[in-house]
Amino acid sequence: MTEPDATRDPGAPAPGSSSVPPPATRREARARAAAGWAAGAPDAPAPGVTGPGAVPADVPDAPDAHAVVITGPSPARRYGRGRVVVAAATSAVLVAAVAIAGVQLRAAGERAAEAEQRAEAMGLAAELASAEDDFLADRQRAADLDASRRSADAGRAAREQAAAEEAARVAAEQAAAEAARAAEEQAAADAAAAAAAEEATRRGAASGAPAGAPSSPGIAGWVDGRPVDAEGNVLWVTSVPTADGDGSNGNMPASAMCQVPWGTDQLGFAQYLRCDAAEALTALNEAFRAQFGASIDMDLTYRSYADQVAMKAAFGGLAAAPGTSSHGLGTALDVQEWPGTYGFGTARYDWLVANGPAYGWYAPARVRQGQPYEEYWHFEYGPGRTS
Ligand SMILES: [Zn+2]
Repeated sequence: MTEPDATRDPGAPAPGSSSVPPPATRREARARAAAGWAAGAPDAPAPGVTGPGAVPADVPDAPDAHAVVITGPSPARRYGRGRVVVAAATSAVLVAAVAIAGVQLRAAGERAAEAEQRAEAMGLAAELASAEDDFLADRQRAADLDASRRSADAGRAAREQAAAEEAARVAAEQAAAEAARAAEEQAAADAAAAAAAEEATRRGAASGAPAGAPSSPGIAGWVDGRPVDAEGNVLWVTSVPTADGDGSNGNMPASAMCQVPWGTDQLGFAQYLRCDAAEALTALNEAFRAQFGASIDMDLTYRSYADQVAMKAAFGGLAAAPGTSSHGLGTALDVQEWPGTYGFGTARYDWLVANGPAYGWYAPARVRQGQPYEEYWHFEYGPGRTS
């Protein structure tokens, strides 16, 4: 603080003026009084003393810190240099105290702010740690779940693999067993067939079976060149045309006859028809197969004169007179005598009657249902005819 200089004090009174101006405010008055009292000024009334310039009764005993902002005439002029120094020092101390208090206040504020920041940082850190813990826990749960799922998958795959291997093993065993069984059955069938062929050959040779005659379990033996069943009944079969035939009924030359290429009778005997009839029957049979999924079941076709004579002897009035049967010309077909399959009114019979004429084959009127000689099994070849 600059020491007051009375000579340069702008507040100094003009020369010749010895009077002090009255205090402008009550505060100023109070400050003057306090300063004067503290310095022991003889012209300053003590607090509480009445009189000109006296301080009101409510003036405090201690000097006011605000005294440093005194305005007006210089204190040095009024109270002397020593008092001013004391007042200035006091003011300096007070200002310093205020400054220190302010610094301390700022420091405290800064510490509080730092503490608050630290607390906030700690809170954030805790929050972060908590979030991190949650994240790690979630990741651990996901990893556990994944591991559990992988384990379950592996277990399932292992079970499926084991089941597949077991199934493959069982299938292989079954296939091997079936193959062995099939081989056994085949061997047994082969042995039975060989034995049957041997027996048939032996019997045929013994009874004079014709060359090329089929062997069949249904043929028990041969009598006069004809097959017989176990009871000795003749099994009437299709005759084989001979090379020396003269072309008459029952004597068709082999050169005019054709073997039906797609079937035999049930005993395995070949079927023979005049070649044009055989060709037409083959075409008819193709249509029949398309309709029923199987070929026509043939029984008898060509019949030699000798066989016609033998049949007349066996059946009497039921057989045609020898030399008159269409079978002797190779233009007749008897299907199997199966009434449930080819009998009147069956699907096959009706189909053959309806579709046969388109191929030259028809059911003659004399053997239709209700006629004296009805034979559902008998058909004849005659292009253009329908009955
Ligand atoms: Zn017939």
